[in-house]
Amino acid sequence: MWYVSTRGMAPRVDFEGALFSGYAPDGGLFMPEELPQLGRETLRQWSALSYPSLVAELCALFIGPELIPRDDLNDLIQRAFRRFRHREVVHLSRLRDGLNVLELWHGATYAFKDLSLSCTAQFLQYFLQKRGKHVTVVVGTSGDTGSAAIESVREAKNVGIIVLLPQGHCTKIQERQMTTVLEENVHVFGVEGNSDELDEPIKAVFADVAFVKKHNLMSLNSINWSRVLVQMAHHFFAYFQCVPSLDMHPLPTVEVVVPTGAAGNLAAGCIAQKMGLPVHLVAAVNCNDIIHRAVQRGDFSLSEAVKPTFASAMDIQVPYNMERVFWLLSGSDCQMTRGLMEQFERTQNVRLPEELQSKPSPVLSGPCLCSQVSRSCCGCWTEPRNSSGDPSSGVKGDALHPDAEE
Ligand SMILES: *Cc1c(COP(=O)(O)O)cnc(C)c1O
Repeated sequence: MWYVSTRGMAPRVDFEGALFSGYAPDGGLFMPEELPQLGRETLRQWSALSYPSLVAELCALFIGPELIPRDDLNDLIQRAFRRFRHREVVHLSRLRDGLNVLELWHGATYAFKDLSLSCTAQFLQYFLQKRGKHVTVVVGTSGDTGSAAIESVREAKNVGIIVLLPQGHCTKIQERQMTTVLEENVHVFGVEGNSDELDEPIKAVFADVAFVKKHNLMSLNSINWSRVLVQMAHHFFAYFQCVPSLDMHPLPTVEVVVPTGAAGNLAAGCIAQKMGLPVHLVAAVNCNDIIHRAVQRGDFSLSEAVKPTFASAMDIQVPYNMERVFWLLSGSDCQMTRGLMEQFERTQNVRLPEELQSKPSPVLSGPCLCSQVSRSCCGCWTEPRNSSGDPSSGVKGDALHPDAEE
């Protein structure tokens, strides 16, 4: 399997190349050159799998046995989920009226990022050990990514991690999750300023290509293909748990509401859909609503500033994975994607062409949820639940609704 840049001007790379890259050299994001189409028979087989086995099947499609032989792949994924608290790793909870919640929070830090980061860290360590190399991961965080990234690499011998956190802007529990890890390879710094200001020095570091090369630095945000890849499993697993039978004609559609920040999970859902999974994706955003405006009105433009809300992981101004979504929606049109994204970088303001807007398209739509989303979600539980489990906000997993109208 080869990976190409969404902007079409970079040489293709294999999975290992995509794993160790941030952006492609032309500024784009890596995507699989071809998306395997899954027929009903494959879906039927996959529907009987456990969550870890499903992740392994998916990864095997996109990694290739010449890079990671299947037995090794199975071991890595087993190891990645070893410390999850739930026997099934991911669990679907059934609520009232066909509403379900996919519990993605059973990992070490309670963030759904534990799932994709723990696998990604195993892949990194696997290749680094094989090649006798070392990398240092540099992460700026408002909470979830930092703690999940630290947990994922704390036992990795060939990976170090430096985390910058905006002091006083993370929740207390997340600050402690980050600052109480005593491993030699983990370095955490509190920084004055908010998360936007904290991004500045990190951007400057990664813009210095010679410096990055000399010190083997890399990022682990959801620009990284491996994270998107693993997250596709959420959508498959949720679908199989929601539909009563895969013998129905046509297969029923499941509506998946995805709490969205940088749109990594959303991009993963779009890819799953392109591979033949009948899901209808709804991007849920808070008042930082660039995706909502883009989908509803074709208005992909920066707002003045990030507005802080309860759901800090969704307080994102530039949802960079929308580039992957645009590329998919345009039928892999790298010229169009490049044009749009370069215009966005120049002017912070793009009017999307008709074919990328939602129209009656089954791809995305989205109500603009406010920061109160957590409160309204709690109202859906059949029984009162203790919602203190989530260390960041209250938006915990994907809400799913089978048989939504199309
Ligand atoms: C990371 C995160 C998000 C945003 O996810 P994306 O895939 O970047 O859109 C939303 N909610 C929570 C709780 C998160 O940790």
